[in-house]
Amino acid sequence: MSKKILVLCMAALMAVMAMVAGCGNDKKAADGEKVLKVGTNADFAPFEFQGADPTAYEGFDMDLIRAIGQEMGYKVEINNLAFDGLIPSLEAGNIDVIISGMTINEERKQKVLFSDSYYKSGLSIMLPKDNDSIKSFADLKGKKIAVQIGTTSATEAKKIEGAQVKELNSSADTFIELAAKGVDAVINDRPVNDRYIVESKNDKVKVLPDLLTAEDYGIAINKKDTELQSKINAALKKLKDNGEYDKIYAKWFGGKK
Ligand code: GLN
Repeated sequence: MSKKILVLCMAALMAVMAMVAGCGNDKKAADGEKVLKVGTNADFAPFEFQGADPTAYEGFDMDLIRAIGQEMGYKVEINNLAFDGLIPSLEAGNIDVIISGMTINEERKQKVLFSDSYYKSGLSIMLPKDNDSIKSFADLKGKKIAVQIGTTSATEAKKIEGAQVKELNSSADTFIELAAKGVDAVINDRPVNDRYIVESKNDKVKVLPDLLTAEDYGIAINKKDTELQSKINAALKKLKDNGEYDKIYAKWFGGKK
């Protein structure tokens, strides 16, 4: 009888030990799980936006950063922030990286590190279809132009002689302003203007074929984090080499790059 109790006690003890060990392992996995805190401004289709499900972030950048995270063994956590708040958040250490259709330029390089370029973009003009007087950037002199605050569009628009530049919070706001006839034209990144034409079914506007700039998008990383920069570049290269990048590109832009 006492032997039986002893066996039962042993079995119970082993079960408890197994549970403790199990818990231990789980805890280690949870603690050890590396999280990549990503900042974006999710109002920039087709790069980052909220579709039918408002809790899910969609777009080329979102798929790309998830693939990069997976490659590096990080769980990706998306934080939706104002575009002009992204670099300050990175500098403050609240996020680890920015992916937000962000153009690599000298001004930003003073504050952040950039990954290698992952997309080639440029700026284009959107305006009412019935406006025949504006045919290129040169015709924007003295005009009212809407742009998104803190962007390369804002920088370029301010260089145009006599232009009245309205700086709004998102590219979506610039389209609303144009529809409300508050401005003569909008300057945005070309793929974003092109996508609006297709998705909004607004047939009263057009995009001029002219590109003002050639811009490269990069993932921004905290100035101190050269190790993360190397890891991201290695992951990006791998995705380009193994065809994953091309798959993501084809999903959002159709065709091969
Ligand atoms: N590519 C532009 C820039 O970096 C616009 C980016 C954006 O609005 N998300 O300024």
